[in-house]
Amino acid sequence: MTSNALMNNYGTRKITLTRGQGSWVWDDQGNRYLDAISGIAVCGLGHAHPEVTKAIAEQAATLTHCSNLYNIPNQEALAEQLRDLSGLEKMFFCNSGAEANETAIKLARMLGNKRGIDEPTIIVLENAFHGRTLATLTATGNRKVQAGFEPLVRGFVRAPYGDIEALKTIAKNNRKVVALLLEPIQGEGGIRVPEANYLTGLRQLCDEQDWLLMLDEIQTGNGRTGKYFNYQHAGILPDVLTTAKGLGNGMPIGVCLTGPKASELMQPGSHGSTFGGNPLACAAGLATVKVIQEQNLCQQAADMGNYLLQQLTERLGGLDDVIEVRGQGLMLGIEMKQPCTELVEKAAAKGLLINVTAQSVIRLLPPLNISQEEADQLVQTLGELLTQE
Ligand SMILES: *Cc1c(COP(=O)(O)O)cnc(C)c1O
Repeated sequence: MTSNALMNNYGTRKITLTRGQGSWVWDDQGNRYLDAISGIAVCGLGHAHPEVTKAIAEQAATLTHCSNLYNIPNQEALAEQLRDLSGLEKMFFCNSGAEANETAIKLARMLGNKRGIDEPTIIVLENAFHGRTLATLTATGNRKVQAGFEPLVRGFVRAPYGDIEALKTIAKNNRKVVALLLEPIQGEGGIRVPEANYLTGLRQLCDEQDWLLMLDEIQTGNGRTGKYFNYQHAGILPDVLTTAKGLGNGMPIGVCLTGPKASELMQPGSHGSTFGGNPLACAAGLATVKVIQEQNLCQQAADMGNYLLQQLTERLGGLDDVIEVRGQGLMLGIEMKQPCTELVEKAAAKGLLINVTAQSVIRLLPPLNISQEEADQLVQTLGELLTQE
């Protein structure tokens, strides 16, 4: 049971995981679970991946931390890797998704202030999730995340997801907008996948309006949707990009990346982080990126994602309670007609870890290297669960 020395923000948790290996985790009672949530899209290589473990152990025994008062070769190497992978130019490393988004928000503010706009404004979308700090919970499009934390941060306007016309209306009426911040696929919001030409349309609109296109790829990045970053499916480049979750396979690390329109905004002293980009976190990041590339895990996520989408649609798509099976790569959602949070516990009792988001969407984020046999087992267990077998 959960200790009462902890704040109650997560409530009481019932399962105590003590060990993991690949797509599997074990609890303190010796029960084994197939992990179809991967620590919320974090352990993309599976648990206890030997190359990441080795990199962490070696770096921990060499130099764990030294602060950004000094050059950090691992940080520079990871920045160069991400530059090559993304097509963007410059990186700022931090420790979480929310901090990466704070960096993006600060960049937009810097640009607005440089342009002499008195209240630089960022467009954010309904159902978005951008984190739990004050600025990022303000950017989040979910009242439950915001309630009780007023006053919220100024300088945000809200628009519907997937609706370019609504953004054009804002463009006409609001001359203070400097940036648009969105997740290319909404994760916490319920695995919402936009129409194929959405990102291309947004890129065009941002160019016309001279807005920064800022993509939150904290969940969709690092191979999750079948390309290293989701925007690569659309063949565009954002001006600002954030990622975190899957970057260190479990080591806390986040990063904000910039293209030409935002790369020169930061100056010495504008921003910083004590831990951000430390040798240990970057060693884990370097090992993770290396394995994703060497083992072709983006393509594997695309292929296994297609297979799972097809199998899940076949097995579950026709059920009365199911509205839709959707997703891209290994970021999959099954939208149910009713709230279904009780399924999490029922699935665990069958040896399967899943998550329910937006009350009624079963969210699946298995490791990028989940085997076909494991994927089949996932479909089988979910099928049993939803048909009460
Ligand atoms: C998880 C997540 C965040 C917040 O990341 P933290 O590391 O929890 O701060 C922000 N945006 C998206 C899209 C996320 O999925």
